[in-house]
Amino acid sequence: MSGQEIYDVIIPLSGGIDSCAAAYHWLRDNPNKKALLLHIQLVNGESKYRQLMEHKASHDIIAYFKQDGLNNFTFKQSQLDYVSAGQIPPIWDIEAVNFLVGTYMRGFKINSYIKATNKDDFDQINFEDRLKNSMTILRNVLYPDLEDIKVLYPNKSLSKKQVIDGLPKPLLNLCWYCRTPVSNTGNNHNTAYLPCCKCEACLQISPHIL
Ligand SMILES: [Zn+2]
Repeated sequence: MSGQEIYDVIIPLSGGIDSCAAAYHWLRDNPNKKALLLHIQLVNGESKYRQLMEHKASHDIIAYFKQDGLNNFTFKQSQLDYVSAGQIPPIWDIEAVNFLVGTYMRGFKINSYIKATNKDDFDQINFEDRLKNSMTILRNVLYPDLEDIKVLYPNKSLSKKQVIDGLPKPLLNLCWYCRTPVSNTGNNHNTAYLPCCKCEACLQISPHIL
């Protein structure tokens, strides 16, 4: 019965570097506990290929964890499609993520939430306001079933570079970071996508990976 599944924490796994690092370190540090790793596909029109590459990355990361002997988790997937609400997403990713994270926390009575937010994120202008809004959404979704929750930020004091440096290279290479992937060939059914090398994420991350 699905109602009997018990998890100590929920960790969203986007397929990106930060969430991969948060999940990897938690799984290694807590061998006797169990996590629900939730991959959320946000279909929001921002980049039609980004979600495809993140989806693939999340599966590659899960395969790596298993190969590495990390079995203290269950992997689940969810999707939120709001592309018809407009080309520019009307809500922030962290708001959409928290709506779904709250839904799964409520469904499985999970009261701890591991967020992958790093120091660079906290340093962004208006980030704290966006975070506060997203946490209001989370608490509203949880009300009244789960009011006493813990939200943990294990990467809070780490810069993006420190998060990157803390991952094994083969695992890092499975993560997807580009926001606007470009088509590699475009002339067959196995079209691959490559990082654009132009978006903010590419400019920030690629120098640390190469
Ligand atoms: Zn890019």
